[in-house]
This record gives sequence, structure tokens and C-alpha cells, in this order.
Amino acid sequence: MINDERKKARWYLVRDLAKLIPEHGDRSIQLTFEAKGNGHKENDYMVEDRSNNCVACNSSELLTMHHVVPDMYRRAMPLCIKSKSSRDILLVCKQCHHLYEDKATQLKKELAKEYNCPLEGKGWIHSVEKRQARKAAAALLRFTDKIPESRQKELALVVKEYQKAHMEQQPLDVDGDDSWRTVLEECSQLEDVYRGPDFIDHGTYVIRQLMDKERIISTENRDDRWPQLETFIKLWRQHFLDHLEPKYLSARWTVDGEIYNH
Ligand SMILES: [Zn+2]
Repeated sequence: MINDERKKARWYLVRDLAKLIPEHGDRSIQLTFEAKGNGHKENDYMVEDRSNNCVACNSSELLTMHHVVPDMYRRAMPLCIKSKSSRDILLVCKQCHHLYEDKATQLKKELAKEYNCPLEGKGWIHSVEKRQARKAAAALLRFTDKIPESRQKELALVVKEYQKAHMEQQPLDVDGDDSWRTVLEECSQLEDVYRGPDFIDHGTYVIRQLMDKERIISTENRDDRWPQLETFIKLWRQHFLDHLEPKYLSARWTVDGEIYNH
């Protein structure tokens, strides 16, 4: 019994939900979440004792921390939401995680269409010039014996043009000089697709749109709210419930659970 109490006290302490009262001995704690006035209710999921098992199949092996709201979105959210996200991190075994990830990817793809931003982000720059130089150099390095001589000359010209415009000049000898090989190797590794100055990742783009749509500003406590973000988080929570049907998840974990850390 004493051990149970100790365990419980420690549970609250490590989560900053209680403070020690030293004058009452080492097991006396005072809960701090009621005093804050906005913390966790007694019947809340966050103050519940939990087992170390998968919330879907109850397995205790190969467990992983699953982010109900994918990290690509969560990290773009304001701190008052991000810092509250432990509610949305659930224990899931690798197998269940894998099953659910397929469904999550489908939803991400739908969101990409809805918000007009591909999952790989916006603002990639494709350089035709670099692409041509890279391909020509790679062909000359790998398939010289299979390419007719006239074509080899054309390809070498593409590389030389690129070198002339963008690379340090070196004396060239196409007939087997080491320096030519160095140029070819360098060109064959050119990156022809890269992030431009206006690049924005998918998660940030979606979250910005949601935040810009609607914001309820509170002047008193600086506890602003973003109703569209709330809906978005609840969408992911509901999606997780619908697709994984986690039978071992606490009934106190609900779609409407707290979102902010105000
Ligand atoms: Zn599982």
C-alpha cells in the first residue's frame, strides 16, 4: 500500500503535477494542477496511470512512441500547443504502427491536395543546365565504350560548356587526362534539384494556412486560440481512432481532449 502511494506520488512529481511537502515527510505531495486552475482534471487522461503496452494490441514488445499528429505538422505549431503534445504521443508496437502509417500517409496525401502543397514541399528549383551536365558526365564516365564517338563529342561539349560557365578552369585534354576525369566526376554529382530561397515544407505551409484563417486573440492571458488548428488536431485524433481502433487505449483519451498549454 505504501509502495503504491509512493509510486503514485512519484508519478505526479515527475510530470510536474505535484510538489513535495518536505515538512510532512518524503511521501507527502501536494497536487499542483488544480491550483493552476487550468491543468488536468481529476478524471483526465493525463493524470492516469498507464501500462507500457501497445494501445491497439496490448503487446509489450517493440514499442514505439507514436505521434498522433504527425511531427511534420506538430513542429510548425505554436509553442502553447507543441508543449502540450504528450497527450498525443501514444505507445504503439511496431506492427500496429506500420499498419496505421499507411492510412496516415493517405490522409497526408489528401491534405496535400486540399491545401495545395505537395508532401515534398514547395519551392524546389530544377536546373535544366545542371541536369544536362550531370547526365552527360555520368554517361561519359560509365558507358564510353557503348556510345558512338560522335555522341561522345556532343556529350563532352555539354560538360565543357557547363565547366566554362560555372567551374574553375583547368587545362582540358579530352583524350584521357586526369583533370578531365575530375571534371566529369564533379559534374556527375551535380544536384539539379534543390531548395530555392522560397522553399517551404508541407507541414509549415498547411499549419500557416490554418493559423492565418482564424485566430482568437486574448489580451489578458496571452492565451490565443486557433480554431482551425484545433479542428486539424482533432481530425488526426479521430483518424487514429477510426483506423487503428485502439482497444487498449484509455477511455479518457478523447478526441476533444485539451490542446493548449495556456
Ligand atoms: Zn500493437
